[in-house]
Amino acid sequence: MRLFLALIPPPELRRRFGELADTAHSHCGGRRVADDNLHLTLAFLGEQPKHRAEELADWLGGMRLAPGQWRLDRWGHFAEPGIVWIGGAPESGLTRLQHSLREDLEGLGIDARPRRFTPHITLLRRAEHPSGASLPEVALDWSYSRAALILSEPTHQGSRYTPLAWSRA
Ligand code: ATP
Ligand code: MG
Repeated sequence: MRLFLALIPPPELRRRFGELADTAHSHCGGRRVADDNLHLTLAFLGEQPKHRAEELADWLGGMRLAPGQWRLDRWGHFAEPGIVWIGGAPESGLTRLQHSLREDLEGLGIDARPRRFTPHITLLRRAEHPSGASLPEVALDWSYSRAALILSEPTHQGSRYTPLAWSRA
């Protein structure tokens, strides 16, 4: 089972991310991430056996995160493989959250990626470099309190994500 931990945007924020994805797509082309798949990855766990997934679901389900607010205020680009994203300051409560999750996962024997965390929401894949001037300003706040353990499965229309567990409200 291909698993990752993520923050899932509330509906209104998902809608705003989708609008930014459409605008970015009109400038940079590539493959736009479907609305349903817009997320922030906290940790990619890779392929795990079923019993591991159950163990991880129990672990996350028993956890309560320190709620936080993340300010999204910038566009970014990963040249390889042409990812266009929106994100915020690299140092934030999210960094601490990601770090503590990785430590916990290490305790469970899982080497989660990435090691160097750049919090971001991928909007486009295989896209051209965005020229900053043509993209709208980003100024969004994301109040988060729960993380999800997500199963990622390949389909003909791209990956399908299914939440398996949530941290406590
Ligand atoms: P697709 O692979 O179909 O384009 P996807 O990349 O969204 O879709 P997954 O490959 O299952 O689906 O990835 C799930 C999440 O984990 C995504 O946010 C992805 O960027 C992230 N991810 C995948 N592989 C890694 C990795 N090796 N290191 C860090 N993050 C990863
Ligand atoms: Mg992928």
